Amino acid sequence: MEIQMTRTSAPKAKPEDESKLAFGKIFTDHMLMIEYDEGRGWHDARVVPYGPLSLDPACSVLHYGQEIFEGLKCYRTAQGRFQLFRPRDNFERMNRSAQRMGMAPIDVELCMKGLLALLDADKDWTPHSEGTSLYIRPTMIAVDPFLGVAASSKYLFYIILSPSGAYYASGLAPVGIYVEDQMVRAVRGGVGFAKTGGNYAASIVAGAQAKHKGYAQVLWLDGVHQRFIEEVGAMNMMFVYNGKEIVTPELNGSILPGITRDSVMKLAQLMGYTVCERQMAIDEVIADARSGRITEAFGTGTAAVVSPVNTICYKEEEVRLGDGGIGTITLKLYQQLTDIQLGRAEDPFGWTLQL
Ligand SMILES: *Cc1c(COP(=O)(O)O)cnc(C)c1O
Repeated sequence: MEIQMTRTSAPKAKPEDESKLAFGKIFTDHMLMIEYDEGRGWHDARVVPYGPLSLDPACSVLHYGQEIFEGLKCYRTAQGRFQLFRPRDNFERMNRSAQRMGMAPIDVELCMKGLLALLDADKDWTPHSEGTSLYIRPTMIAVDPFLGVAASSKYLFYIILSPSGAYYASGLAPVGIYVEDQMVRAVRGGVGFAKTGGNYAASIVAGAQAKHKGYAQVLWLDGVHQRFIEEVGAMNMMFVYNGKEIVTPELNGSILPGITRDSVMKLAQLMGYTVCERQMAIDEVIADARSGRITEAFGTGTAAVVSPVNTICYKEEEVRLGDGGIGTITLKLYQQLTDIQLGRAEDPFGWTLQL
């Protein structure tokens, strides 16, 4: 299938001051759209000027939340080229989300082709400064104008692009996390592993409460025992034990399988660290933080790549993780991974795709 291209007749001015770029606030000139109809499959793949969607108010996404999304980045390399990081993994994960949400599977190759066509039009929107990128947001929504609770027969897949500022304006900064012991994000058998909007809707109140208490993120516990660590907001968690072993909660169906999580685990092994995926009880983590067995902690996700965590608050008691600064392994992993993403270091796993 060819991707139709309609260029905007009114290109927008690109942001001039890259230091003021926040996250997800401005969008480029174009977007990709692909439509799905039962019996016909995916059709009408096209790059069109960025603009509002026209949706029937009865659309199932607006009532029952059949929605999934992805997040990845396009980077500008030191050589002035552009590259993506593991883009196919995002589309493959989108298909696992689609399956759980009862949505039509996407055509990974068509989505890749569409993304490249969209970037061909708009990659110049990728900012230049250190730490900035062009954030890519693939989305799929159910657009059947029907109020019955059933899988939709029509879907819209689209991709929008947003030039985004440096997550760390002045270098890596450690944050505190708040262990939520009342609300849960996901449950066994639920949709925790799917990147679907409802998981975020369910997390907003807890996030606001944690912020109010002075913490950057919520650390979620499992929905069954409210005892085992799952993940934070939009990041997976890693704990460094005794300066050599990296431990992360095992994927159990209610944790989002992060691509950054996977990349950090593979890099850490290559760098000679032991990596262990297992259940981690919160009381054990608190005790290990107190005793000093946990020497570093950090979150992993596309937005921040690696985010050092220096304090954890559980049942109104704050405990320090490591020495309160940025751990040496945390920093090494951050540097190694961002160097690969930016084309400054060799890419031993073939993760990057040059445009
Ligand atoms: C997207 C996401 C992550 C991180 O995944 P990456 O692929 O590393 O960006 C972690 N947790 C949740 C809930 C997410 O939605």
